[in-house]
Amino acid sequence: MPMHTDGLAVHFIDVGQADCALLLCGDDAMLIDGGNVADSDLVYAYLQKHNVTHLKYIVDTHAHEDHVGGLAGALNEATIDYAFAPVADYDSKAFRNYLKYVESQNKEIIIPNPGDQLTLGEAEITVLGPLYDYEETNDTSIVLRVVYGQTSFLFTGDAETEAEQDMLAAGRNLQSTVLKVGHHGSSSSSCDDFLAAVAPEYAVISCETGNSYGHPHQETMQKLHKAGIAVYRTDLQGTIIAQSDGQTVTFTPLGPADDGYNYATGQQTYIINTNSLRFHKPNCSGLQGANSRNQQQFTGTRDELIKQGYSPCGTCRP
Ligand SMILES: [Zn+2]
Ligand SMILES: [Zn+2]
Repeated sequence: MPMHTDGLAVHFIDVGQADCALLLCGDDAMLIDGGNVADSDLVYAYLQKHNVTHLKYIVDTHAHEDHVGGLAGALNEATIDYAFAPVADYDSKAFRNYLKYVESQNKEIIIPNPGDQLTLGEAEITVLGPLYDYEETNDTSIVLRVVYGQTSFLFTGDAETEAEQDMLAAGRNLQSTVLKVGHHGSSSSSCDDFLAAVAPEYAVISCETGNSYGHPHQETMQKLHKAGIAVYRTDLQGTIIAQSDGQTVTFTPLGPADDGYNYATGQQTYIINTNSLRFHKPNCSGLQGANSRNQQQFTGTRDELIKQGYSPCGTCRP
């Protein structure tokens, strides 16, 4: 049976220190970014679980790995109509891989122009950026405003202040009910004027607990709180589903992914494979399809496992 979605559903998929959003509206689906290369299996499994076998649009907001990396997994699961990126080529393995999978479906990368209009079910999407050629890769991010009824979502990728100021100067309508906060909540994005123009009721930040960048930056959090914006965070709440009926948006956080750490006891649980002698976090995407007879739970320290001859999985890096 073909998939059908009532209203507009936006899944902010928890891909750690990265971005990935699945939009479902009517009979159409769209993926904006795919997380890191290591998230490829997770994205594949997520689409499969939601019976998404076709994506009308797949979007790489910009060429950084934490956005383009996992799109290969999506292209393994789903056929596509249109693939977007701000550049036709970029010198990285992750981007070239995206290119390869797009081409294997006999499609080519489309570089959208500001002002372009797309439709996703009954939702209307406007391309707001990038407006110019930028040196800074983050500023090349494709910016999309998705309007469904009276509600709207703004996706800015990792666009930073320079790109934000240019969008303001262009005078386009930026106002949105929900803002996917730029660059994982970095203070180099979400400048005051931009935030005032978007004037969101809700903000979603996609980042990982304890990430080395310190995202979201305190300065950004203070601005959002001061403006009375309700903030959702994938690092604290896991995958977050926003559902619009055209009038209001409701949020359902699915809870943080089980990384096996028990905060009460301070103990870590791993899944060990007695055959491959690898150990994994319980939520490792690499565990799927593995022979469960060889898998056991182990609660203890990393060092104990290594002493017993086990080595950490390269995907979940326990
Ligand atoms: Zn990023
Ligand atoms: Zn980036």
